[in-house]
Amino acid sequence: MKFGKYIIFEGADGVGKSVLSQKLVSRLGEKATWTCEPYTHSPHSTPQLPICTALRDFCLSSKYDLTLAGRELMLLTSRSVSLNHIVVPNLLRGQTIISDRSFISGMVYAYMEGMSFTSWLNIVEETKLLHLESYVKDIEHRSILQPDLVVLVHSTQYLPKSLSSGDRYDSKDERFFRQLEMTYSESLRCLVNRGFLKQDAILEFTNDMSLSIDENVDKLCTLIENKKHSDPWNDLKQKIAEAEKKTNCIACDSNDDVKVSHQYSGGDLGGQYLIVPLCKMCRIKWFCSSEFRNELVERYPKDLEDISF
Ligand SMILES: [Zn+2]
Repeated sequence: MKFGKYIIFEGADGVGKSVLSQKLVSRLGEKATWTCEPYTHSPHSTPQLPICTALRDFCLSSKYDLTLAGRELMLLTSRSVSLNHIVVPNLLRGQTIISDRSFISGMVYAYMEGMSFTSWLNIVEETKLLHLESYVKDIEHRSILQPDLVVLVHSTQYLPKSLSSGDRYDSKDERFFRQLEMTYSESLRCLVNRGFLKQDAILEFTNDMSLSIDENVDKLCTLIENKKHSDPWNDLKQKIAEAEKKTNCIACDSNDDVKVSHQYSGGDLGGQYLIVPLCKMCRIKWFCSSEFRNELVERYPKDLEDISF
């Protein structure tokens, strides 16, 4: 069985996520299904989930005073329903899912309200609300669904929402928008560190308001296509080739038979690949002494490379 691709569009309000994501779906034709979060409806034959719509409207309405944690629990419940009833069944049929927003928006907006990333992720881990239902776990051997691609959309221009729908965030200004943009970037770094996201699944895209929608979608498609063919091993080979040009040992500056030592440390989701030009004596120390290696890591961080697979 071929699991479909799960592509998420994220970014601040007004950057053009909805238009871009829907346009991309219409280009992909029948292979793709569009959805959005935290409520789920789709013009592309996805059934509506009334519970998601109800929860979303309740949470975002400024008429109700919910506690921060209470609202997050309701939004996570809605995400859990749409994940397990829309996203996963479609992926299992081999469909590409293109989602306008995701759990990442939940984390970012909770942060803007005063909840740290850690507290939010702790709620997710404690409640298991973003975990997959057991039948999927059996097929996929994983409990969390990682997106294949997160397109973080930026915009060349700040456009305030023109129509007020009574949502909590409609009245916010450009300062709030800029803070949101920054928080999105920080949230992705945090998610990579916590194992919810792979570094190479992130694609940042700037929606150019001076171009037409189709021109922007063309640009985006090219970036996605290039990303598919980028090879982390190739990048690594290039970095090793760069290091091999160095003639002096980075530990003692000797030029006695300098060669590049490299070593990978990390888990499935990425880690650190150490690429260090060392002289003959220091190479022996490098292989024999973990203390020497740790000291080098601390002393010469600029000569070491991080890499994710
Ligand atoms: Zn040396």
